[in-house]
Amino acid sequence: MRVAVAKEIQPGERRVALTPEVVGRLVKRGMEVWVEAGAGDRACFSDTSYEAAGAAIIEDPQRLWREGQVILKVNPLGDRPDGASEYDWLSEGSTLVSFLNPLAEPTGVNRIAKSGATAFAMELIPRTSRAQSADALSSQASIAGYKAVLMAASQLPKYFPMLTTAAGTIPPAKVFVIGAGVAGLQAIATARRLGAVVEAFDIRPETKEQVQSLGGKFVEVALEEETRAAGGYAKEVSDDSKRRTQEAIAKHVGSADVVITTAQVPGKKAPVLVTKSMVEAMKPGSVIVDLAANQGGNCEGSAPGETVMQNGVSIMGPDNLPASVPLHASQLYAKNLATLLGYLVGENGELSLDFKDDIIDGACLVHQGKIRNERVKAALEEELVRIT
Ligand code: NAD
Repeated sequence: MRVAVAKEIQPGERRVALTPEVVGRLVKRGMEVWVEAGAGDRACFSDTSYEAAGAAIIEDPQRLWREGQVILKVNPLGDRPDGASEYDWLSEGSTLVSFLNPLAEPTGVNRIAKSGATAFAMELIPRTSRAQSADALSSQASIAGYKAVLMAASQLPKYFPMLTTAAGTIPPAKVFVIGAGVAGLQAIATARRLGAVVEAFDIRPETKEQVQSLGGKFVEVALEEETRAAGGYAKEVSDDSKRRTQEAIAKHVGSADVVITTAQVPGKKAPVLVTKSMVEAMKPGSVIVDLAANQGGNCEGSAPGETVMQNGVSIMGPDNLPASVPLHASQLYAKNLATLLGYLVGENGELSLDFKDDIIDGACLVHQGKIRNERVKAALEEELVRIT
């Protein structure tokens, strides 16, 4: 089986789907691996290092896409700077494995289906113990949570740790993390390591113990509705619950030096949790990092990829933080992909899809040109109705 690693084309992307180490493991398992020339450059993996691991370096991207049996990528497909489209290079019989953002970009899924190809979306891998080492949402969200704290620490005009010096005592910074999923928990751990005092809130009550185990204080908000959806995710709550949440967290936002927001509900616009009036009540110099800025934002006034100043408060809306730690982000992602490939490939080293396996069933978005995921089909219908 020929596995092909395409170079990422999204502006600012520095990750690559496979690292030389993982290429070496796949080659040992009998796979042929092709890597597009320069694919790993921005993640610090040279063409020479891929060749040493047993890969062939392919200069012509179109050939790589057309002749690769399994195409591995990080980002959803798009149009290349030279005008060609990755969608046009997918062919019947090929299998794509990548993040595909299927609920937000259903028309992209439709284009994949029209090619007759098969596609696995990394977002759809079930969040189960068995699938844990293939869970790329987690590996990449953890990096985002870590980097969000580092960004906040370098923007804050204060120290994070408490310091007792001959020139006086510095109190520790106060960090408030909203959303204690994978990114939020890593943000709590990182802020604690830097010496901050940390509070956190999530609408899923089971996160309380996880926050406490990392040394954070959990902010309780009593909501009179179920906040959990299937798969361990949060569900979109009523306007009344949103209002109660905002009232309860306002004083914690007001007293924080740093607020990090990570709250998301899959397939929905991110909930607004930090309002303009809460920002106005913060001390000048405080920092907000809104990790949901791309999904509409948890903080009113945040903008994707920008830092907005409001009353002396920096509201940062970083875009694609995992790409800013490209070496380790690629290393983790490559291991996630290798695990998934382990489920997709049979003993004879060829693709063998057993749809009775919940990982294959869950992650396979398109099979031989047919969209399999009901939520994506519904999102696509909505999108088509909106366009026509
Ligand atoms: P996510 O990125 O979808 O959301 C981030 C957090 O925002 C979640 O904790 C969510 O509860 C929270 N949130 C949503 N709306 C909110 C609101 N209005 N106010 C406050 N917080 C809000 O979540 P994620 O980090 O991808 O994790 C999703 C779930 O998957 C979690 O239950 C996590 O424990 C679980 N998970 C399981 C495994 C596994 O078992 N292998 C691996 C990873 C994650």
